[in-house]
Amino acid sequence: MTASYDAGFDIGGTRLKYGLVDRDGRLVQKGKVRSPEAMADILAVLEQAWFSLRKKAPGPVRSCGFGIAGFYSLKERKILQSPNYPSLSGYPLIPALRTFIDVPIRIGNDANMAAYGEFKHGAGRGARSLVLLTIGTGIGSGIILGGKLWEGEGGYAGEIGHITVNPEGEPCNCGGRGCLETEASAPRIVRNYQALTGRTDVTDSREVFVLAKAGDAAALESFRKCAYYLGIGLGIVINLLNPEKILIGGGVVSAGRLLLGPAVDEARRRSHRISFAGCRIEKAALGNDAGLVGAAAWARLKAGSRG
Ligand SMILES: [Zn+2]
Repeated sequence: MTASYDAGFDIGGTRLKYGLVDRDGRLVQKGKVRSPEAMADILAVLEQAWFSLRKKAPGPVRSCGFGIAGFYSLKERKILQSPNYPSLSGYPLIPALRTFIDVPIRIGNDANMAAYGEFKHGAGRGARSLVLLTIGTGIGSGIILGGKLWEGEGGYAGEIGHITVNPEGEPCNCGGRGCLETEASAPRIVRNYQALTGRTDVTDSREVFVLAKAGDAAALESFRKCAYYLGIGLGIVINLLNPEKILIGGGVVSAGRLLLGPAVDEARRRSHRISFAGCRIEKAALGNDAGLVGAAAWARLKAGSRG
């Protein structure tokens, strides 16, 4: 039997990533470009990437999946709101994609696609339920329950980054206050350090990480504060869903135990001990490729391709 492939696109943040994935989750082709802002330019980039993938494919391409940052409505089949790409909001993307893509197309939220990628081909393989938290400039998340991606009634599930962990916390760009994302993402580590030291020359969480490793008390405290709120968030997830695994991905994973150690300790204090004991909190495995691998696997599920 000829092996077949599925194409995955991850339209999130500042980069547009794409690749060709085989049935075992291996990326056989991949590329990335800086994301344009205008809709016509985004479509032109997608068309070029699609034809390039197809041309280089070692076998037939059966389906094409897209993970997009924003609220994708399962019922209206369009993006209702995209914080990074205002031109995508309300745009009927599928008819536009169909003008050049002639295989089944599936679209989902980028964080949900990443969770599906880890579930099918990453650190979540074999698990029946898991939650992926991707912690970087924001916090994205996706939920797998009973072996299936839980998208919610309308497609908006898994916004764990916007659960309140500090009722008196800073305003969040979602309109809320003290969200997990405002209290525990990478920019907050930097803001904590700046507030504690008055040093505005430190602008990257990696710098704070280096300082913390060297024993800088303010840098250690900056991480400890974020870990505290991350732990509260993890505790809520454990009590609510009783998941088999929670996977942590994103840039801050490189901080390792500095962040995750105290966060897990806090989660233990904040969740039921039996549920906590049954949940493994681990690092995600696919890194920046999780979204496009997941989008391809998600599209394959729809297309029902086997080869
Ligand atoms: Zn929020």
